[in-house]
Amino acid sequence: MPSIKCSVTECDYNKAVECHAPMIQVDRNNSSSASNSDQTKCETFKPKM
Ligand code: SF4
Repeated sequence: MPSIKCSVTECDYNKAVECHAPMIQVDRNNSSSASNSDQTKCETFKPKM
C-alpha cells in the first residue's frame, strides 16, 4: 500500500494527515464518468467515535 496523504482528519483511519486503512475504496461521486477529482470520493471514510 503506497502512502496516502489525506487531509480528512475527522476520519478514524487518519493519523497525522495520512491514511492508515489497510485498503481504501474510491468511487465516482454522483456521476457515471468522472472528469475531475471533485467527482470522486473515498468510500472507506469512517467517522471518529
Ligand atoms: S479512509 Fe479515506 S477519508 Fe479516511 S483517511 Fe483514508 S483516504 Fe482519508
